[in-house]
Amino acid sequence: MRFKLTFFYTAIFTGLIAVMFTIAYYLLSQDLESTATTELLERGSALRGYFRFEDGKPVLPAGEGDFEIAAFIRTASRYMQIYDLESGELVTQSPDLNILGFSFTRREVDGISKEPALVKVDTDKGRFLFFNDRLVGADGHAFFLQVGEPLEPSDEALRRFARLALLLLPLGVLLAGTSGYVMAGRALSPIRTMAKTAQDIEVANLDRRLPLLHNNDDLDRLARTFNDMLDRLQHAVSEMRQFTSSIAHELRTPLTALRGEAEVALLQAKSIDDYRGLIGSQLEEFEKLTRLINQLLTLARAESGELRLDIRTFDAAALLDDVVETFLPVAAEKGIKIHFDAQQKISIDGDPQWIERAVVNLLDNAIKYTQEGGTVWVDLAQGPHDSRIEIRDNGIGIPQSAVAHIFDRFYRADSARGKEIDGVGLGLSLVKWIVDRHGGTIEVNTRVGAGSSFVLHLPRGAGKEH
Ligand code: ADP
Repeated sequence: MRFKLTFFYTAIFTGLIAVMFTIAYYLLSQDLESTATTELLERGSALRGYFRFEDGKPVLPAGEGDFEIAAFIRTASRYMQIYDLESGELVTQSPDLNILGFSFTRREVDGISKEPALVKVDTDKGRFLFFNDRLVGADGHAFFLQVGEPLEPSDEALRRFARLALLLLPLGVLLAGTSGYVMAGRALSPIRTMAKTAQDIEVANLDRRLPLLHNNDDLDRLARTFNDMLDRLQHAVSEMRQFTSSIAHELRTPLTALRGEAEVALLQAKSIDDYRGLIGSQLEEFEKLTRLINQLLTLARAESGELRLDIRTFDAAALLDDVVETFLPVAAEKGIKIHFDAQQKISIDGDPQWIERAVVNLLDNAIKYTQEGGTVWVDLAQGPHDSRIEIRDNGIGIPQSAVAHIFDRFYRADSARGKEIDGVGLGLSLVKWIVDRHGGTIEVNTRVGAGSSFVLHLPRGAGKEH
């Protein structure tokens, strides 16, 4: 990552410098050329003004008397030649131009455009810019005037600029690379620390957290998200530990009882009837153990996420009617009445099997925790957004301090333990899971000695009933 960042940074930087140098080079060459052109044009037209015609031929005065004019004429005519346009003969040529060997033949003079023009010429001494013009004497005799200027100084300046650029470019790249590497290292160092800490975190030290820099930047957000995830993991792991120890505890109690009974029987039982009695009571314990294991299995499978709900719209009254019917014999045994009006037409969107499971658990509790001769009410109602199932009893009720825990796994209120009512504290946690998976809620209203009411708020039936 560090190398990648450095590489991209350097590549972009190099590209930018190269583009900047190219643009600067282009602008400089344009500027130099336009300065040279203006200068030559000004010089050429000024020079024209000094020409005199002697014997019909143009000559330049030596500029006696005026030192400045003399100097100007000397410089301006350093690269100059004049041809007679009629005969094509050379009239005059400056020595410097002569050295360059830059002259025209008669034919060439004929071919030359007679209009004023600027031309560039490559010579052994570098590039030259020439200004071509015409001089006409009083008698109408026309001459071709060419004044030149070397472009070599500007070309040399450009070459120097290019050399400097080529020297500075690798230096800049080196600088960009080094600073990029250092900067990338700095930017990535918190990530390295995070990775290191994350690597060291195991189940045994799940309380460790990633360090926050409190810059409120993306890295801090990442660390915070990761820490939140660790919070959830820690919570889940501690729940699992508690769950495992609760299971061990719940299994140990009946097993100890079974073992104790068996030991006593071995020592004391004398007749077949004694053994029968023992096996009979052990069967009850086995029954309880089987129930517990079945509940555990259902809860484990439900929470592992491998169970999918088969959601559809179903008739809630019919479902409740069936459940109530199966409970009538158990209730009758305890002299408890169950009230249910199956006439209402109310539907629910959900998985009927799981909803049935929830109602069974609630009804089982209502009967379990209601004294003989009590009453249990099962009600159905429909609100604007939900369908409600209420299971109410006038039983022992739940202490307020316990209400917050009754949906926890293995939790049993003291009132339940004290009275030695059968159960392990898993029924309501499954109810809660079922309602949560349906996107619903549970409402509990209870008072010790007066009874309890559990209301399930479930999605109202929207589709066609199956
Ligand atoms: P279990 O019934 O196996 O103990 P549950 O998870 O079904 O476990 O219930 C948890 C606890 O909530 C019970 O132990 C009991 O104390 C309390 N409880 C549940 N339903 C009722 C009820 N209808 N009346 C009084 N107490 C109840």
